[in-house]
Amino acid sequence: MKLHEYQAKELLREHGIPVPEGRVARTPEEAGALAGEIGCPVMIKAQVLVGGRGKAGGVKMAKDPAEAVSLARAILGMKIKGIEVQQVLVARAVDISSEYYVSLTVDRASKSIQCIASASGGMEIEEIAEKEPHKIVRFTVDPESGLARGAHYDSLARAFGAGPGAEQAWQIVSGMYGLFTGKDCSLVEINPCALTPAGSLVAADAKVILDDNALFRHPELEKYRSAEEYGADEMDARSQGLSYVEMDGTIGCIVNGAGLAMATMDLIKYSGGSPANFLDVGGSSNPEKVLHALRIISKNPRVTAILINIFGGITRCDDIARGILMAKEKLAIPVPLTIRLIGTNEKEGRALLQAAGVEAFTELTEAVQAVVRGTPRERARA
Ligand code: GDP
Ligand code: MN
Repeated sequence: MKLHEYQAKELLREHGIPVPEGRVARTPEEAGALAGEIGCPVMIKAQVLVGGRGKAGGVKMAKDPAEAVSLARAILGMKIKGIEVQQVLVARAVDISSEYYVSLTVDRASKSIQCIASASGGMEIEEIAEKEPHKIVRFTVDPESGLARGAHYDSLARAFGAGPGAEQAWQIVSGMYGLFTGKDCSLVEINPCALTPAGSLVAADAKVILDDNALFRHPELEKYRSAEEYGADEMDARSQGLSYVEMDGTIGCIVNGAGLAMATMDLIKYSGGSPANFLDVGGSSNPEKVLHALRIISKNPRVTAILINIFGGITRCDDIARGILMAKEKLAIPVPLTIRLIGTNEKEGRALLQAAGVEAFTELTEAVQAVVRGTPRERARA
């Protein structure tokens, strides 16, 4: 999960790293008011989950609140790498005398955490690597023993210079390391790490990526999840306990179990169709889940047919049938429904469906061919 700059800075601040004061605005007027409260000059910064915002014109300095309003008006709504800017960070401008780069990432090869630091900050690390590779300092940190004053400190001193620079860089990297390991990050980057004329280092820009596989350990970070990265439907599905991934095809799929979902998508492809999504209602036996699954899939304008494929184990066919009937009653499902139902409580499930005039297939191949050909039993009977 990628974090916006303002979110990344919140985490940096919590880990004792100096960050310029700042808040987020969604309208030009709000940005102007914040500029007044924070004190000018301020930076008006597009909050989108892509890099290179400065070059795209999404990072500007305002000398007074009136200019903050007009710059925010220009930046809000702007598209950066195809993404529309919906919010800006209004942050106290740092007086910058030079820009450094510092980041932590996972180095899989050595099973350690890699720190990259450079006295040439501001530009992206790929560009530094190309233009001034000799200015890049790298070292790895063994997660078992952690950061140590000694070799690691000396490496930082090579990038940041000896004296107070190195000591401050050490404090900053220690904070970054605490964040990286404490919140299971895959990237923590400060670029530029700005040196002020008074000699202080400040995180002027920050990027944090969290490891999705470890997010369950950090429920406090769920609030950072954004529709910009995951899509509104995926967020909706997640909040209903459904595992959902949108794809670019036309056949909506509701399946119990990830393995069965993969097999179903393969078979749809094999039969000449294309899946519109991956959606797993498995795990428990709850008619509401089917209702939400159908509601979310029905919202997708690309979907021309829906296939429900249930191989009941823990999931009971009668609960699925109840969910389908509930959805038929509550939602206007705009496309034909093809159902394949076998396994636990299949008889009860079928009986419920039949009483409502809905037929279900037993064989998966037949069901998939029917949905791809556009001949669901439901329609045939109608
Ligand atoms: P990015 O382009 O998406 O990486 O956005 P940054 O926040 O890194 O901003 C790009 C550039 O704008 C930086 O490299 C700085 O040169 C400049 N910049 C950003 N924040 C400040 C600030 O507070 N003061 C000054 N003087 N320049 C800034
Ligand atoms: Mn930057």
